[in-house]
Amino acid sequence: YQAKARGGGCSAYFDVDLRKRVQRHMDLEQDLRRAVHQEQLWVAYQPVVDLGTGSTVAVEGLLRWRHPAHGSIPPGEFIPVAEESDLINSVSAHMLRTATRQVAAERERHQLDLGLNANLSPRQLDDPGLRALVQRALADSGLPGRALCLEITEEAIMQDPTAAARVLHALRELDVSLAIDDFGTGYSSLAQLRRLPLDTLKIDRSFITDLGASDELRIIVTSVVTMAHGIGLEVVAEGVETAQQLDFLGSIGCDRVQGYYLSKPIAIEELMASPPRSWTR
Ligand code: C2E
Ligand code: CA
Ligand code: CA
Ligand code: CA
Repeated sequence: YQAKARGGGCSAYFDVDLRKRVQRHMDLEQDLRRAVHQEQLWVAYQPVVDLGTGSTVAVEGLLRWRHPAHGSIPPGEFIPVAEESDLINSVSAHMLRTATRQVAAERERHQLDLGLNANLSPRQLDDPGLRALVQRALADSGLPGRALCLEITEEAIMQDPTAAARVLHALRELDVSLAIDDFGTGYSSLAQLRRLPLDTLKIDRSFITDLGASDELRIIVTSVVTMAHGIGLEVVAEGVETAQQLDFLGSIGCDRVQGYYLSKPIAIEELMASPPRSWTR
């Protein structure tokens, strides 16, 4: 098998590789169908820290899959699998129900004014049941709408800005807030975003990672913060890994930060036991 692949040159390697990937994709899809019911999916939480007060104002819920045979599979691998099948609806519903319930419970137990950020997949924007799903998760958990922020990637919005605007307005009726995620990786302009009912802009990690090495990046990030504020959006920087990045973002008036420097995404019990910063009450 190996010898044949080698003799066939690059394309044979590619075929072997492609076949493996297709097989893995199909296996994952089957396993994911089971995972939803067998409690293999759980939610990790990463704190969002306010630079003005220095306290943790919210947590972003990030899906995790503990696969019985393959160990931990990252969402970057299984969310696309879910999106290419009908699974994205049950996976998303499971995520939203779990996260709203857990955060509502901690708010109650510790008397915290803690927000929850949840990611919506691009496919969910096309789902006519989305508003009802969110509404039910809020009602069942008791989490107030104003404590929930839904994150939608710039790319998902730009696929069909008119349709996206309709969905965002419908969600807004639930009193939830809305964030544009991974800003800077797509092709939108702030002029376009201005027309959408958004509250927050999240600057993609790729801009933050190299801040220290590039004058240009510092200028770009500074003007994104200024322009976002100018159209009434709060700004969150993602992927903050160093004290220098944190200091710089504070100096240019960025509102909130997230990143390994403060905390990796961790289980709710672990986060509540030792928060990286004080909570907002
Ligand atoms: P995202 O929404 O942009 O989430 C941020 C990602 O950056 C997370 O990866 C997080 O662990 C990682 N991250 C946070 N801080 C740092 C840092 O300082 N350095 C580095 N290197 N990375 C950092 P994760 O958890 O692997 O999630 C990847 C993506 O999967 C998310 O990107 C999101 O698009 C998607 N995803 C995760 N959970 C869900 C979900 O429940 N629903 C949907 N639709 N998508 C999800
Ligand atoms: Ca996100
Ligand atoms: Ca992001
Ligand atoms: Ca991302």
